[in-house]
Amino acid sequence: MITCPACNEKLDQPEISCPHCSYIFTTGPWVVIRKSYPPEDRIIESLIRSFNVPVRLIHESIAPVAGITIGPLAEVKIAVPQVFASYVLDLLSAPHPKE
Ligand SMILES: [Zn+2]
Repeated sequence: MITCPACNEKLDQPEISCPHCSYIFTTGPWVVIRKSYPPEDRIIESLIRSFNVPVRLIHESIAPVAGITIGPLAEVKIAVPQVFASYVLDLLSAPHPKE
């Protein structure tokens, strides 16, 4: 269940904006829900998008410069709007079919 932070109405599904008050969720705070490494980051990104939730991958700035793809420097932070964080974490922890 998702609760709009602006009007406190409940949403069954993620939306770009609140159907009750038109609050745009991506303008609110974003939170890092998981840290990942390539190529798993892209799999998680597409999975989160399949839930209809906006997602951002935050790459450590040094990694592309140094060409490092393995190890702590290649860490990718996966962020979603805070309003969807618990919703996404529930879905990610649930069993899902393999690609
Ligand atoms: Zn609202």
